[in-house]
Amino acid sequence: TSGDFVPALVIGSGYGAAVAALRLGEAGVRTTILEMGRLWHDPGHDGKIFCATTNPDHRSMWFRHRTEAPLDTFLWLDVVNRPIKPYPGVLDRVHFDEMSVYVGRGVGGGSLVNGGMAVVPRRKYFQQVLPEVDADDMYRKFFPLATECLGVNDIDTDYFTDSDYYEFARVAGRQAEETGLATTFVPNVYDFDHMAREEAGTATKSALAAEVIYGNNHGKRSLDHSYLASALGTGNVTIETLHQVRDIRQNRDGSYVVTVDHIDETGEVVESKQIGCRHLFLGAGSLGTTELLLRARDTGALPDLDADVGQGWGPNGNIMAGRANNASQPTGARQSAIPVLAIDDWDNEAARVFAEIAPVPAGFETWISMYLAITENPERASFRYDPATDRAVLDWRRDQNTPSVASAKSLLDRINETQKTTYRHDLFGDDRAFADDFCYHPLGGCVLGNATDNYGRLKGYRNLYATDGALIPGSLGVNPFVTITALAERNMAKIIATDITT
Ligand code: FAD
Repeated sequence: TSGDFVPALVIGSGYGAAVAALRLGEAGVRTTILEMGRLWHDPGHDGKIFCATTNPDHRSMWFRHRTEAPLDTFLWLDVVNRPIKPYPGVLDRVHFDEMSVYVGRGVGGGSLVNGGMAVVPRRKYFQQVLPEVDADDMYRKFFPLATECLGVNDIDTDYFTDSDYYEFARVAGRQAEETGLATTFVPNVYDFDHMAREEAGTATKSALAAEVIYGNNHGKRSLDHSYLASALGTGNVTIETLHQVRDIRQNRDGSYVVTVDHIDETGEVVESKQIGCRHLFLGAGSLGTTELLLRARDTGALPDLDADVGQGWGPNGNIMAGRANNASQPTGARQSAIPVLAIDDWDNEAARVFAEIAPVPAGFETWISMYLAITENPERASFRYDPATDRAVLDWRRDQNTPSVASAKSLLDRINETQKTTYRHDLFGDDRAFADDFCYHPLGGCVLGNATDNYGRLKGYRNLYATDGALIPGSLGVNPFVTITALAERNMAKIIATDITT
């Protein structure tokens, strides 16, 4: 229906969007969330909401004929990926020329598919990345608030030491320590009490049944169980699902109008609507928010948007690699899908690396130690609006990851030396040891203080805000969702206090 109007619209339902919706709802502002993905609450044909990682079906990926898992092959064999029926599945892999980006689709955005690792960045690096943000405010107030509202908890160290499902992490942790590297536990939003019950056989297995990238059926406090549930609880927030925003424009009176396609489960547009609002919040993620803004600027709909929209993008230095352990160092046929241990070598100025020890939950012994390395890399890319396809194009080149691969390699070479081991070359295609062509942590495109003011207000317009990972300039040194949440909390506190009158 055209002519609909709500005081506030929020595009997307990931971390930044969920914070915006909750704080608006609490302030008494009627708010509608527009989310292109599904609500993941109803069980499918097999009684499960999400499909199994090891046996993916149509629920796994966003309109694909075949799954595209991060590990491409095993022993060079094409045994990982499966043909599937196109459907609005929960994980998407967005392909650009030389980089592809994993993102979540559905109510809760990335929280539905991510590893749940909830890491507060090092204060010194945070200050370097976002120097205009008052770090005292963040570390005293907004990081603790975000951590609390997200439901972050720590693994019990006795459980970690005894669990059958964490041998992979204990082995890799020991090897790091034998190399003189420091390890640290990583907090998570997965409920570790639930995990202990899974292992004891008193709760249905989820993390311990390899569930993660295509959704967890139990145990994980994704946003639909935290911020978004609270937002709905205010009575002022509604969520429209399978609603994909196409365009944004502004009326003469300063209000905004979005064009949104309501799609069905085949992807057909069943209705195209116009919805008006006073305050518009973009929380469609680094890729989604940047694309909507670039399209608006470069088609002339919002011509006064800053030249910095589209700039400052980076993959948070993400590199994956696997080591091949000796036969005497098995990593376990049983592996929890939730990582809990990391190698922290960020103080090594020559090669800053925070390397998470990741599972390979294949269900059989692989002798693999897998790592997601977050590295420091000064390289940045930008998006350009391509009128021919009406899409944003990312100009990241593969060779921009050279510094990241070098850092990850220098750390893992040291471990290989002490352990007398080598790399696995059979996992990522093309005989490569290092996966340098995809990422999980897209950051930037609408950088705080450049494309926006210091609180996410888009330059050139009033009542228009970016609230998600697009605000962070390409690198954070740790997994990003706690920071995205905390920054959104900080910005919303300011915006509610000064921009919103009810
Ligand atoms: P998102 O969470 O990406 O949410 C954006 C939402 O907007 C999505 O739901 C999307 O469907 C919707 N949307 C986009 N465009 C439109 C549109 N035009 N109209 C309507 N809706 C739209 N981070 C961590 O901190 N710890 C981890 O352990 C971790 N593991 C990860 C593992 C995987 C497999 C992946 C993919 C990511 C992982 N991340 C992790 C990254 C983390 O999930 C993201 O940084 C985070 O979700 C980004 O939050 P956001 O608010 O910027 O946007």
